Amino acid sequence: MPTHTHQRVLAASLVLALACTAAAQQPTPAAPDPVATLVGRLSLERYKATIKGLTQFGDRRQGTERNRKAVDWIEAQLKSYGCTNTERIKYIYDPTGAPPAHRYPSQAHAPGEAVIGPGGARERGNIFPDRVNEDPMKQPDPVLRALDTPPSVPGEREEVYCTKVGTKHPDQMYILGAHMDGIGWGEAANDDGSGTALVMELARIFSSPDVTTDISIRFALWNNEETGLNGAAAYVAQRKDLQGIESPAGSGKYPEPKWLGMVQHDMMMFDHGMPHPDGTMSKTQRPEADINIEYQVTSKFADAAMLLARNFQLADDKYADTYPAAVGPHMTNTDSTPFMNETPSLSLREVERGSQMAAGWDPQHHQPTDVYSFYSDDDFRLGLNSAETTLGAIGTLAGAKLTPAK
Ligand SMILES: [Zn+2]
Repeated sequence: MPTHTHQRVLAASLVLALACTAAAQQPTPAAPDPVATLVGRLSLERYKATIKGLTQFGDRRQGTERNRKAVDWIEAQLKSYGCTNTERIKYIYDPTGAPPAHRYPSQAHAPGEAVIGPGGARERGNIFPDRVNEDPMKQPDPVLRALDTPPSVPGEREEVYCTKVGTKHPDQMYILGAHMDGIGWGEAANDDGSGTALVMELARIFSSPDVTTDISIRFALWNNEETGLNGAAAYVAQRKDLQGIESPAGSGKYPEPKWLGMVQHDMMMFDHGMPHPDGTMSKTQRPEADINIEYQVTSKFADAAMLLARNFQLADDKYADTYPAAVGPHMTNTDSTPFMNETPSLSLREVERGSQMAAGWDPQHHQPTDVYSFYSDDDFRLGLNSAETTLGAIGTLAGAKLTPAK
């Protein structure tokens, strides 16, 4: 079979030629990965300290002085990190007559009947209710109870963001978000101090004077998530039609760069597994704990969001030191929802929102036990790994580079 032999010889020559070429080249050391350097600037102690700083304002319930003080504190921190171009969204929140948000009445289900949770996810196994605590006396700490006592008053609300301006594409951006308000008569340490601290830490790292990005990145700390995503919805309503407009014309400035994606971080720390049959939980982070990256399969940008989610999962492989990441299609009940028909949108969490959180996998959710002192370093580290994942993914997608500090 001469032809076959001839092909083999050709193939062998090709291999030899490639080998010779490789041998002839000087081994070039791989260029250091700037994104890995940036990920190395995260630390568990800094992440914990930022969460701790947020908890000084108790539950940060929207429409209270403690919430407004928390917005001021967040803005001061962003400026101190070098993210000095802070801006605020203002909107009115008046729930008079509106039904309360975040209520999922528990229903009885026949054995074997599929239980469908929020976002279209199927709940399985031991399913327990996920409720909001509204009883002040369930908070055992009188100082914290007093701090959380002044009620929300309808009226004007504010939320803050700042932006890392891209050097090549200042007209395009990724939005990284978390909500700074909470409920439940605790400290909202996990919900959502953990996501707010993550976004603030990324603002700190990307704002370092030796870091440039090709594409802009906006760091947004939403208010009024707990009342029904009102702060994020106000942002979308006020700013979606401003995307990509240079203003003033010819200035090279884009107050609202075109949205390339929105990534929300909401409850990043507690993955102790499914409730036991008696409703108790494992006291420790499960060794298999993972980061749950969710998109919404019914959204307009579902396919693009799925690809973005895979980018995040691969960034976790590359940059997150302890915990893996999984991708799911039922993103729901968080500030990425108002964005999901405008741009590819994701949510990162400790567990899946619809199938797991709604089935009782986080008994601190909206409860007096959601306080800083409740969590162990294994819990905090899951949040840190999410920070590593988002920093790795967005640093890569936005073209982050290191330049000599001026
Ligand atoms: Zn939340």
